[in-house]
Amino acid sequence: MALVAAAHAPPAGAGAPEAAARPFALGDVRLLDSPFKQAMERNALYLLSIEPDRLLHNTRRYAGLEPKGESYGGWEAHGIAGHTLGHYLTALAQQYAATGDARFRGRIDYIVAEMALCQKAYGDGYVGALPPLELQTMRNFREGIVEPQGPFNFRGGAWVPWYTEHKVLNGLKDAWVLGGSAQARDVALRLADWVDAITAGLGPDQLQAMLSVEQGGMMDVLVELYVLTGNPRYLAASRRFYHRAVLDPLLARRDELPGKHANTQIPKVIGEARTYEATGDTNARDIAAYFWALIAHHYSYVIGGNSENEHLFPESTMSRHLGANTAETCNTYNMLKLTEHVFGWDPRADYADFYERALYNDILASQEPRMGMFTYFMSLKPGLFKTFSTPFNSFWCCVGTGMENHTKYGEAIYFHGRDDLYVNLFIPSALTWRETGLAIEQRTDYPVGNQTELTVTSEPAAPIAIRVRCPGWASGPLTFDLNGRPLGLAGTPGGYAVVRRAWRKGDRLRVTIPMSVRAEAMPDAPDKVAFVYGPVVLAGDLGPAPRTATVPYAEDQDANIDAPAVPVPALTRHGSALESRVVRSTDGSLEFRAEGLGLPRDLVLRPFWEIRFDRYSVYWDVVGERPADAGRTPAASRP
Ligand SMILES: [Zn+2]
Repeated sequence: MALVAAAHAPPAGAGAPEAAARPFALGDVRLLDSPFKQAMERNALYLLSIEPDRLLHNTRRYAGLEPKGESYGGWEAHGIAGHTLGHYLTALAQQYAATGDARFRGRIDYIVAEMALCQKAYGDGYVGALPPLELQTMRNFREGIVEPQGPFNFRGGAWVPWYTEHKVLNGLKDAWVLGGSAQARDVALRLADWVDAITAGLGPDQLQAMLSVEQGGMMDVLVELYVLTGNPRYLAASRRFYHRAVLDPLLARRDELPGKHANTQIPKVIGEARTYEATGDTNARDIAAYFWALIAHHYSYVIGGNSENEHLFPESTMSRHLGANTAETCNTYNMLKLTEHVFGWDPRADYADFYERALYNDILASQEPRMGMFTYFMSLKPGLFKTFSTPFNSFWCCVGTGMENHTKYGEAIYFHGRDDLYVNLFIPSALTWRETGLAIEQRTDYPVGNQTELTVTSEPAAPIAIRVRCPGWASGPLTFDLNGRPLGLAGTPGGYAVVRRAWRKGDRLRVTIPMSVRAEAMPDAPDKVAFVYGPVVLAGDLGPAPRTATVPYAEDQDANIDAPAVPVPALTRHGSALESRVVRSTDGSLEFRAEGLGLPRDLVLRPFWEIRFDRYSVYWDVVGERPADAGRTPAASRP
């Protein structure tokens, strides 16, 4: 049985391996109050503020139908128009699946019905919002005409048509599978048939030329359609999106990633991951596992994001890549997807550790709290600030993936095997595991507190092993008590602690996770460090960012890349370990003070996700021993 989000998906092909751990359907996990639930609710309001007729403007217009609303601005007014509509469908479907809120289902039904009309008007199975140049580029594939012009365009400047069309097809698939729309199934499969038709006649060299231009997750969505329908034509079509120049070196375990556009590559590897799940192709599995380890362990900043100016660079140069354009948020969205796959095959704590790091310190940190707007880059330039989208005039790629991010926080808290439950994240939530009868509630103020408590609210018919992640960063073994009595479990950091029993309603399993402050150095620069408390990346709060026409909200994702940063204090060693001088406040918050470390002044540190409108630094230069007269002279601040 393949790993698919849909509980009612049919089995994949005969070669499909059995997953060791599978995610639950979104509807099986309900968030309880936490910053994640608040982010989800904020995002839901934004989703409801979008007018479907405006997002459908280009879809109707290019199909020859009168638009019913004005076009939106930003990227929706360019050649990539329509990508947002696809992301929006996925976000609506996930929100609906997670909450059952009929307002989201109503929007799905309306949009899909409109798209069905447009598909009929086009007449050949295509539907989307591609402008004439981009659509003609696609139709030319059927004639054997493939004319790439750099990594993001075809002849004439046609901008990433496959990337855009992937969002549309994936949105329709989600409207079907998660949103329950039968009409979406029909529209999606007709569109997939069109994709098959325009690519079926291309030879291997033509296909590879086509794939030199960013194509999003085309392989991924086609494999999933194969799993959902059992139709081998979709599997065959998906294999046409195997990009040899990127995936062959990964299969040979050669790291040729430096210099490559990051977010172009991650979805290709997700496609390979799903191919393994659907077919048992172990080459596809090896590519995915190797790539995951490279990105997570060698290309990621402390917040879990990767890339500068959207491109990957050698780990040996990371400390020189702390500019304004670091960590495109889409990349992290995609790395979390990939992490769910590799975890499913091999449920290891380090996979879940990475997921937690990137979820708290990048994804949660990417949303601002007033309007639920999104970051594109997550700047790690010391002394700069975050730049967020505008509601209706940005529509960057990261707005699209951002809309999805905050609808699916329930997705990776728990996983399950046949009779074992993985508790990966300590996020307040209620889980119903229908197949076993087990229901639990997890209540916690983690990471403010260092405990979480699981209460059984419905007892299962048979014994179940609850496997609790013991984070690799924990400063000592986790401890456990059951109904107030200590359990003699190892709780070794970096593994899972297993409690197997016949669970009874009312059973309470309390987990205590030792946390401390750590200084994590850059891989290439031992004197450039970030502070982390448990799972929480701490950023120095450097005071309010200026309000300007592009701060904090910008139509252009690059609007503030040349904005001046403020000077950032440096740190001195002061004879002892740095982390021992980073002290938590006594008011119960996650505010810390670096005492006697900063030059020319000391630092106040808070969770990176709590810094939205202030200047900040995540990384700090360590400049040797603190001079005896420090603090009394106006020492120059370091850049
Ligand atoms: Zn993006």
